[in-house]
Amino acid sequence: MSKLRFSAIANSQQRKQIHIQEEGRRSELFGQSVFNEEKMLRHLTKDALESVQGAIFSGSKIDRKIADQVAEAIKGWAISMGATHYTHWFQPLTGSTAEKHDAFFDLLPDGRALEKFGGSQLVQQEPDASSFPSGGIRNTFEARGYTAWDPTSPAFIYGTTLCIPTIFVSYTGEALDNKAPLLRALSAIDDAATAVAKYFDKNVSKVNATLGWEQEYFLIDKALAQSRPDISLTGRTLVGHSAAKGQQLDDHYFGVIPSRVISFMSDLEKECTKLGIPVKTRHNEVAPNQFELASVFEEANLAIDHNLLLMDVMDKMADKHNFKVLFHEKPFAGINGSGKHNNWSLATNTGVNLLSPGSTPMKNLQFLTFFINTIKAVDTYEELLRSSIASAGNDHRLGASEAPPAILSIFIGVQLSNVLDELEGVSKGKLSPEEKTELKLNVVGKIPEILMDNTDRNRTSPFAFTGNKFEMRGVGSQTNCAKPMTILNTIVAKQLQAFKKEVDTLVDKKNLKKDEAVFNVLREYIKSSKRIRFDGDGYSDEWEKEAKRRKLSNNKSTPEALQILTSADSLLLFKSMNVMSEIEVKARQEVELENYIMYLQIEGRVFNELVYNHIIPSAIEYQNIVIKNVIGLKEIYGVVHKELAVGQLNILEQIAEHILALKKKTDAMTSTRKSANKLSDTYKKATAYCENVKPYFDEIRYHSDKLEQLVGDQIWPLTKYRELLFIK
Ligand code: ADP
Ligand code: MG
Repeated sequence: MSKLRFSAIANSQQRKQIHIQEEGRRSELFGQSVFNEEKMLRHLTKDALESVQGAIFSGSKIDRKIADQVAEAIKGWAISMGATHYTHWFQPLTGSTAEKHDAFFDLLPDGRALEKFGGSQLVQQEPDASSFPSGGIRNTFEARGYTAWDPTSPAFIYGTTLCIPTIFVSYTGEALDNKAPLLRALSAIDDAATAVAKYFDKNVSKVNATLGWEQEYFLIDKALAQSRPDISLTGRTLVGHSAAKGQQLDDHYFGVIPSRVISFMSDLEKECTKLGIPVKTRHNEVAPNQFELASVFEEANLAIDHNLLLMDVMDKMADKHNFKVLFHEKPFAGINGSGKHNNWSLATNTGVNLLSPGSTPMKNLQFLTFFINTIKAVDTYEELLRSSIASAGNDHRLGASEAPPAILSIFIGVQLSNVLDELEGVSKGKLSPEEKTELKLNVVGKIPEILMDNTDRNRTSPFAFTGNKFEMRGVGSQTNCAKPMTILNTIVAKQLQAFKKEVDTLVDKKNLKKDEAVFNVLREYIKSSKRIRFDGDGYSDEWEKEAKRRKLSNNKSTPEALQILTSADSLLLFKSMNVMSEIEVKARQEVELENYIMYLQIEGRVFNELVYNHIIPSAIEYQNIVIKNVIGLKEIYGVVHKELAVGQLNILEQIAEHILALKKKTDAMTSTRKSANKLSDTYKKATAYCENVKPYFDEIRYHSDKLEQLVGDQIWPLTKYRELLFIK
């Protein structure tokens, strides 16, 4: 009898709903724990305020004296809020966030207090970072890493710690994190988009990329989660037969949220509100125990910090409510996994969404310019964009008929397709006055009306235009959005630069009017980027074939998908846009491959433990019960009576077959793993794990799930799907 499983179930059934913290008014709580603009106004001197605002708006440097003043103000505020420690909060390449806490004060031996937080501690710190992955950067340069203040994301208090968002770089200047390249990409898109936006409005002096994420996750009772070695160590179930009831009734989606979960969500939202995370909607997702939390969009850097912070807060809040939150892309076989839609757009300092059509033809020409350039950028760099969402976890989802395929394509809907078709027909060079009028009135002028009823929503598209933004849907639920956002903003920036150059050339050399030049270049882009547009069913096999015909990439596994990062074209792109040097790109590819290997390595080891220490022993235990029964029958009847024992003997044989198969497959998996481990080239090793080791996982699972069906419920050691899912 499996004590762990049964006590976990008993434990989970006794759970009482945790009382919801008393509600304050949301608007009053918002940003309470953040050193935001309102606090800056209150606590900073005029000079300091201007300096910080300058840094936020135009990236200007904050001088040392001012930094001291800012540090003093932040410290005063933080201590008044009950903070005792401070930390530089950063995003190492592990994918999550890291922090190292220091106290604000130290006591000297004579009892005097020594102040430890000044401008220099605010601006720069040296964490003991030797254990963070660097993809060889630190080894090569023997350089230590340091964290540096990112004034564009405000400091906040979490628990009793003041957290200062920072970038993490080596002393030789290479980025060791996900934030530094992101900030460079955001600066690139700012420059490129501002230059183009000026065609339409001279007052534009800054463009921010905006991001609104939608985070999916599973909640499992804590005791039940802990009873499973696979969930504890890998974040997903490696084995487990589906429950008799799954998601086939579709009764979970937007259904009533269980009260235990409501209680968790309320506390979570309250905490998020204090931290300035603008959480908006909550609802059940498709799978049982699956939920989603969406935020209101923000400037991309801030939105990414908020998503990372959210994941951390969720983890801790779940624990308080006796839940375990699973961010894995595929925690359960047979039911949907989790993703994180990234809604993306561009906003000007004049308050205009560049991907939102307006009320005049000129505004719509601006919309079309950014819209078509985005399409062109994704077409040119589709494989690179795909690489930004590659991970061991996401490999389970992409293309598994529940999430977009590994092929990138863009959905824009019938109406906008018609607009692009009409634009494509515009004649080359100068336009006659009639042509211009026709264009402005009947093509460009019609856009706002048609988008009003643009309810057409293709859920199978990985990159869909949804009225006033693009929605990138293939991002994994655990992924740091900085990765896809760095690539997306870099490629669009590159594209906008090229566009501007072409338009300017037509204006200068061919004497075209600006709008004529814009139409001319856009027409060519519409023609040359057609293959990326696809409005049909992205989950279908036909699309896979069609995409191949269109020469779109279809990299199904992470090692394959990551290769494009270091192609000559990609390296040139990153370098020319000042986003990443060759060393930085290679380091990231190396780290991603290493992460992939480690994931599969851990899963392989857990399989071994599950099979040898849990599954086979339980199967034998049950076999022994059956054997005893057969022997008993023999004692009573003399010989094994055919009719009486035939069922038992058959069960014995089936169990024996599956035990043998399990053992064989597990041993074979372990031996392929050992040969893979011997490979020193990271790509070869990752590929060996992908092609030789991973296929055994499904086979092992198959035999384990068969045994789960055969072995008596009392003896089965692992908490079952029907017990893990369906929170009451
Ligand atoms: P869905 O149907 O996918 O739930 P919603 O309209 O609710 O779509 O929006 C989803 C997300 O898109 C939200 O996070 C929202 O803040 C975000 N969003 C809306 N406008 C923009 C924008 N201009 N830029 C980025 N994200 C946006
Ligand atoms: Mg969405």
